[in-house]
Amino acid sequence: MKEINSSEFEREVLQSDKVILDFYSSECPPCEALASKFEDLSRLYGNDVRFLKIFRQQNRELAEKLGVKSSPTLLFFNKGQEVAGRLTGGIKRSQIIRNLDSLLDGDRVKEIKSQIKPTISEFDVIILGAGPGGLTAGLYLCQSKINTVLIDIALPGGHVSTTHEVSNYPGFIEPQVGYMLSHNMSEQTKLCGTIYKVAVDVTKVDLEKKEVVIDEYETVKAKRIVIATGTTPNLTGAPGEKELKGKGISYCATCDAKYYNDKEVVVIGGGNSAVEESEYITRFVTRLTIVHQFDKLTANKQAQEKALKNPKINILFETEPRAFIREGDKIITEVENVKSKVRQKLVSDGVFIFIGMKPNIELFKDKLELDQWGYIKTDQDMRTSSKGVYAVGDVISKKYRQITTAVADGTIAAMAISKELE
Ligand SMILES: Cc1cc2nc3c(=O)[nH]c(=O)nc-3n(C[C@H](O)[C@H](O)[C@H](O)COP(=O)(O)OP(=O)(O)OC[C@H]3O[C@@H](n4cnc5c(N)ncnc54)[C@H](O)[C@@H]3O)c2cc1C
Repeated sequence: MKEINSSEFEREVLQSDKVILDFYSSECPPCEALASKFEDLSRLYGNDVRFLKIFRQQNRELAEKLGVKSSPTLLFFNKGQEVAGRLTGGIKRSQIIRNLDSLLDGDRVKEIKSQIKPTISEFDVIILGAGPGGLTAGLYLCQSKINTVLIDIALPGGHVSTTHEVSNYPGFIEPQVGYMLSHNMSEQTKLCGTIYKVAVDVTKVDLEKKEVVIDEYETVKAKRIVIATGTTPNLTGAPGEKELKGKGISYCATCDAKYYNDKEVVVIGGGNSAVEESEYITRFVTRLTIVHQFDKLTANKQAQEKALKNPKINILFETEPRAFIREGDKIITEVENVKSKVRQKLVSDGVFIFIGMKPNIELFKDKLELDQWGYIKTDQDMRTSSKGVYAVGDVISKKYRQITTAVADGTIAAMAISKELE
C-alpha cells in the first residue's frame, strides 16, 4: 500500500498494470470505515494489484479532473484505463473484492480466495444496527466499561442520517440536519471506545450461540446480542416500481428532492412520513400530488393542516397506484380510485413512495417471538423471547417509533445488560 500525490499519478497509476486508487479525506467517517478493509485486502491482493491512496483535499485538481466528487471513492485501473466501475459511500468488502476479481483471471482469484482465513473475535455485547437505538445502547454499554461491538450493513446513523431535518429531538433549539444529528451520536459512541464494524455483509446470525458472521469469514462472538436493525420502507408492489427504483422512484426526500427543482412529483402515501416529506419536497417542486388510499390523511394534525394549506400540494383521496411507467423524461403513475374504479394517468418528473415500513428481521425471524405485524416482542427491559437477546428501536413491537423512543429503548437495554453482566 502506498500514498501518492497528483504529480505521481501518471507514473504510479497510468503507467502501471493493475491499480486500485483510494481518494480519501480527513474527518470522513466512511473513509475511516474503508481504511481497515483496504489495508486488509492489500495483504491479500497486493501481489497482483497496486493499492494506492491519495489525499483528496491536497490533490483537488486531479480529483476534479477525474470527476471524483465524494470521499472515499475507489477507482480501478487496468493498463492505464479506468475499469470495473467506481465505488463510493459506505463501501463493502464484498464490493471491492468483486471489482478486484474482475481484474484477474479465474484461477488466480481462486488461489487468492483460498488464502482467506476465518477469524474469530470476542466481545461482551454485539449490537446489530447502528441507528439511534443501537448507538445509544453502544454509548451506555461503553460508558459502563462493557466491551461492545456495533455491526451495521450500512454506515452508522440509521434513518436519521437521511432525514432532512429533525425538530423534535430534545436539547436543540433549532431544527437539526438529520445527517449531523446521527453523525454526532455516532462520534460520541465511537469516541467512548465502542468498536465499529460497519458497511459489512451480515452473513449469519446465531442467536443461541450469540455469534454473528460478517463478510463470510469473520465470526464475532459475545455474551449478549442487541438487535437494533430498524425498518425498511414498504413497496407498493405495482408493476414498474422495482425497475424504476432509483431511476425516477425514490424512498428518500432528503436524498432526492433537490433533483426536482421546478418540476412536478407524485407522492404515494398519507401518513406522517408522506405528509411531512411532501411539505419538504414542495421547497423544490412546482406541484406535488399526494395519492392516498383512504378518505383522509393519517398524518398528525399539525402536518395535515400544513399540507392542506400548501398551494403546491394536491391530494387524490381513495386512490391507489396501479403501475409506474417511464415515458421519455416523465414517469406515468397509473392510479385507480378504489371506489369508482376509474383509472387516470398522472404525468410527473418523479415519484416518492412513503407507505410505511417493515422490520429488518430476515436473519433471525424464526428464532424470536413476533407480534402480528412481524415486529419483535420484548419485555420492559427490552429482553426478547431468546435468552440473552435484546431488541430496541423501530424493530420492536410498540406504538410510537421515533428517535427519542429508539434512544430510550437503547438506554434501557444497555442498563439491563450492565446489571446482568455485573
Ligand atoms: C423519512 C423519515 C423521517 C423521520 N423523521 C423523524 C423525525 O423528524 N423525528 C423523529 O423522532 N423520528 C423520525 N423518524 C423516525 C426515526 O428515524 C426512527 O424512529 C429511528 O431512526 C429508529 O431508530 P433505530 O435505531 O431503531 O433504527 P434505524 O434508524 O432504522 O437504524 C437501523 C440500523 O440497522 C441497520 N441494519 C438493518 N439491517 C441490519 C442487519 N441485518 N444487520 C446489521 N445492521 C442492520 C441499518 O443499516 C440501520 O443503520 C423518521 C423516519 C423516516 C423514515
